[in-house]
Amino acid sequence: MEARVGIEPTHRAFAELGLTTWLPRLKLRIGNTNNFLFGSKLFFLQKDVGIYFRDPFHQFYILTAMPAKFFTIANQKGGVGKTTTAISLAAGLAAENVPTLLIDLDPQANATSGLGFDKVEGQSLYHALLGEDSTDDKILETSTPNLYLIPSEVDMAAIETELAKKENYLVRLRDTLKSIRTDKRFRAVIFDCPPSLGMLSMNAMAAADYLLISLQCEYLAMEGLGQILNVLEQIKDAEINPDLELGGIIMTMYDVRTNLSRQVVSDVRQHFGKGVFSTMIPRSIRLGEAPSFGQTIFQYDPLSSGALAYKELTAEIIKRFKLRS
Ligand code: ATP
Ligand code: MG
Repeated sequence: MEARVGIEPTHRAFAELGLTTWLPRLKLRIGNTNNFLFGSKLFFLQKDVGIYFRDPFHQFYILTAMPAKFFTIANQKGGVGKTTTAISLAAGLAAENVPTLLIDLDPQANATSGLGFDKVEGQSLYHALLGEDSTDDKILETSTPNLYLIPSEVDMAAIETELAKKENYLVRLRDTLKSIRTDKRFRAVIFDCPPSLGMLSMNAMAAADYLLISLQCEYLAMEGLGQILNVLEQIKDAEINPDLELGGIIMTMYDVRTNLSRQVVSDVRQHFGKGVFSTMIPRSIRLGEAPSFGQTIFQYDPLSSGALAYKELTAEIIKRFKLRS
């Protein structure tokens, strides 16, 4: 039986059990891990995660969840696996019962088409970022349970210049998404950024808790890394987002057969140590094919090396950022 977590079961289960009023108060008294019986159901309480239960069919419901954690996947270099990682990680988290919202900030809209959606004028954060529209009706349900998308479209290309005319232009995205941060519908929010350190990527960093850098295992991979890390420091130092942290570096398109790949990984690990995720994403033809069918790698070829690697990366990320028990 399919595990269900998300907007609907959360609120329904919550109300049906009459827990709406006393659970928030109870949450304040949670230690580390605890459980208790209520009616016939065994509830688990977990600090940093929320309150959840499994029913007799082992369906899994989160009743109260912690606010979402926001991740920005960025690198000003093009074609280094940002979008592939954004889609696959978002889908991987969703499959692990972590309600996830993927936000496509790239005017190329590769994450949007990669999930099988058309680029539709007006269906992006463009108007919301200019304060002319709400975010909520931009959220689309995808064919993967627990995975939601705010798409992009060509209009987003114009947002950089439009934003520059606005006040607080670096924190417009953060302000736009304030309700999503607090209303607990999603446990993870992932931004897919364009290949530049322009206004959109800066806004994504200003709105995020963690920066994830996608780094291709190629010659001069680390070139340009200093630049993005400088932007990270500037965003922190200028108090635009003092809490932003380097969440980790994801090595992509690793080719086990080449000395070059091994050398690149060894150099990056030497510099960044534990900042580099243990999982390396191999070069895999199936990862390149999946988006042209509008499918995630887990739908297209769940047993491919790419799918298995992204599943492993997902597990690492769930653990590192405490996205679940
Ligand atoms: P851009 O900077 O243009 O947004 P990007 O950093 O988002 O690019 P992707 O679009 O994810 O990079 O990947 C670039 C190309 O490489 C795509 O055609 C993608 O399908 C392919 N690709 C990504 N990761 C892998 C991989 N691990 N193995 C093989 N092909 C891959
Ligand atoms: Mg991309």
